[in-house]
Amino acid sequence: MKVLEDIYTVSDAEETVNSVFITSEKGTIVIDTMRAPADGELLQAHISSQTAKPVYLTINSHHHPDHTFGNSAFSAPIVSTETTRDLMEERLPAIWSKVTGDTQKLPLPNITFRGELKIHLRDKTIRMIEVGGHAPGTCVIYIPERKAIFTSDLVFVGRFPFMGDANLTEWIEALRLLESLDIEHVLPGHGKPSGPDAIVSQREWLERFSGRIRELMQDDGDTDSVLDRLVHEFDIPDFRHAMLRDMLPIFASENI
Ligand SMILES: [Zn+2]
Repeated sequence: MKVLEDIYTVSDAEETVNSVFITSEKGTIVIDTMRAPADGELLQAHISSQTAKPVYLTINSHHHPDHTFGNSAFSAPIVSTETTRDLMEERLPAIWSKVTGDTQKLPLPNITFRGELKIHLRDKTIRMIEVGGHAPGTCVIYIPERKAIFTSDLVFVGRFPFMGDANLTEWIEALRLLESLDIEHVLPGHGKPSGPDAIVSQREWLERFSGRIRELMQDDGDTDSVLDRLVHEFDIPDFRHAMLRDMLPIFASENI
């Protein structure tokens, strides 16, 4: 889907996860590569159908497999935060073997940064800002001249977020930072492209959710009964229950 003249968002067939690509005079920049090598190839084919400019840079916004396992479809250098690369190296090889049977290696980022990295193009700047929150090392990609941002998985539009590697305090802070930027187009890691309201509602939801976790854990402390209450109050889908049960004691001990 063409969001702006030079910014596109792409979903896999089941609309589970989004990638973005940005065209420029230098070539095309891809942000996140989807769930599997085959998805990455479909993404590459789609990009070629939309622009003659070859991909010259790939960005991994964070280490999760649904954003990085299509890396093998791209030969351009990959950029990520230092932490994202470390986590990919540490956590992904076992999952990668299962998904691909190790027919090839998972391509890791070649260029890493901490804090912020900017790419200066003739008509726009690509700002990669490390914010963490959803997973350690997560970065968002902001294009100020277009008032557009790829929020990575800091924003899930219309879905219950994955929080298995999250720090909710950092996540809320990161969303506050995004709220201070001049933004009209929000491109989330999951769900439909939206306006800046999506950032505010995700932050307000996370504040309610994490506040409720701390309240319930303090009152009760038993993770199973707290989980039951949360499932009821927040309409949490079955496939997220185990993740949340594991994270409850961690979220309850965060200092907000
Ligand atoms: Zn993620």
